[in-house]
Amino acid sequence: MGLPEQGGDRRGDRGAAAGERKGLPERFEEFLKTVGFSAFTDRKPAGFSLPLGNYILSPAHEGTVLVGDAAGFASPLLGEGIFYAHRTAELAAHAVDRHLTSAAPLAGTYTTLLRRRLIPELRAETALRNFLYRCLDARMHAPLAAFMRATDTLVVDAVQGTRSFRGFRRDDDLHSAIW
Ligand SMILES: Cc1cc2nc3c(=O)[nH]c(=O)nc-3n(C[C@H](O)[C@H](O)[C@H](O)COP(=O)(O)OP(=O)(O)OC[C@H]3O[C@@H](n4cnc5c(N)ncnc54)[C@H](O)[C@@H]3O)c2cc1C
Repeated sequence: MGLPEQGGDRRGDRGAAAGERKGLPERFEEFLKTVGFSAFTDRKPAGFSLPLGNYILSPAHEGTVLVGDAAGFASPLLGEGIFYAHRTAELAAHAVDRHLTSAAPLAGTYTTLLRRRLIPELRAETALRNFLYRCLDARMHAPLAAFMRATDTLVVDAVQGTRSFRGFRRDDDLHSAIW
């Protein structure tokens, strides 16, 4: 379903009659009916922000640990969070195992693993994100172009997990090491 701007062109909106103008709430209601969720059409739509690098540093308390989106773990650069949901769940599972087998404190172990295995990488990615977005905001194309030329495929490699965001060095254990 297309959601063109009001008064803008109507690409992706082939079903609408000519001259018809609908706002986002009406279009959302129409969408809900189309996919068979008429029961929800009288609810007030609500929106929530997605994590983008604003993770919780110690997402654990006593016997409770937060993983993935619940702790704000997502790529600061792209907002993607599937990898981080899996990786933090993996680290949390090891912390639980250590807690059950040797009575190590769960929250402390999980937080230590995050700080050792994930947060330095997220910090480096956040620094890169800030540089890129500030250049874009300020319409400073020259440093961006120079950076893209200098790094070539390094950023892509880092996004794909074959290099670290810290200096773009290769690290085969980066996303698999636990302790
Ligand atoms: C539109 C969109 C596109 C995205 N595209 C990408 C992408 O291309 N690549 C990428 O890596 N990431 C993407 N993401 C982000 C990615 O989906 C999330 O980061 C990831 O799913 C987080 O996983 P999670 O397990 O932490 O949380 P979720 O996948 O949100 O899982 C949480 C689960 O808990 C359930 N739940 C919530 N409250 C309760 C409760 N009280 N009781 C029981 N269950 C409950 C929810 O129903 C849900 O099933 C996208 C997100 C959105 C919204």
